[in-house]
Amino acid sequence: MQLNTMNNENHTTFHDHEFALIGDFFKNLERQGPCCPKQTLKALGFCGELPENARIADIGCGTGGQTINLAWNTDGHITAIDLMPAFTENLRQKIAGTKLHRRITVLDGSMDDLPFAANSLDLIWSEGAISHMGFEEGLRYWRQFLKPSGYVAVTEATWFTPSRPAEIAEFWKENYPGIDTIPAKVAAMERAGYFPVAHFAMPEYCWQNYYRPMEDIFEPFLLKHDYNGPSQDLVDNIKREVSLYQTYKEFYGYTFYIGRKA
Ligand code: SAH
Repeated sequence: MQLNTMNNENHTTFHDHEFALIGDFFKNLERQGPCCPKQTLKALGFCGELPENARIADIGCGTGGQTINLAWNTDGHITAIDLMPAFTENLRQKIAGTKLHRRITVLDGSMDDLPFAANSLDLIWSEGAISHMGFEEGLRYWRQFLKPSGYVAVTEATWFTPSRPAEIAEFWKENYPGIDTIPAKVAAMERAGYFPVAHFAMPEYCWQNYYRPMEDIFEPFLLKHDYNGPSQDLVDNIKREVSLYQTYKEFYGYTFYIGRKA
């Protein structure tokens, strides 16, 4: 989801009906961003030995695909937070009555107003979401909640080449002007107060994993909404995003950045 949700001067304000529509479309997907359980585990592998009762936050958790994966592969407790009630509700339902119910707390909330105590978290996780605050700004704000030497692992939209065709540059300028190259992102992580531990680009199949299931839900979604203007616009926008990706995927993608509180 590259749609802006933050209500401040740098971001477009969301109208309630658009918000509900976006929730209604994306809640039907396992994931709301490019993803792959293998890459989540690879990133986790760079986060050192977590203590037995690790305190973990998953920010912008969506419907919790990676939250559940993290829970199965760590000890301790995960607090998963998202702004979109349709997503948090979906995650609550998924874990209700399972073993994970005690290990995952699901909160409705915003990533720029987190409920954690200072120096309380061993790990902050965030896949496909930090762009809503901006990479450096988000990292800078979240840092206070990490214990000394705690880890952060985030995915972020990244340019893979020094220059790129105008059409795709324009798309990102409109949707997330914060996209930048790996060296620029690593420098931003350092400025935000972290030691960069590792980074790796997510393979193309992570995007196909994200986009492919959409093909099955476009039609039922449009039907549900009587093919009204806003639902058609949303589907058209998503289809355009997918088609641009297929054309320009060599120029950009998501990169995982793992850092340690300095
Ligand atoms: N991590 C999930 C979802 C990624 S999509 C996955 O990888 O599948 C980005 C998520 O960020 C969405 O679920 C969206 O609702 C959430 N989000 C956007 N703005 C937010 C904010 N201000 N605070 C918390 N979550 C936010």
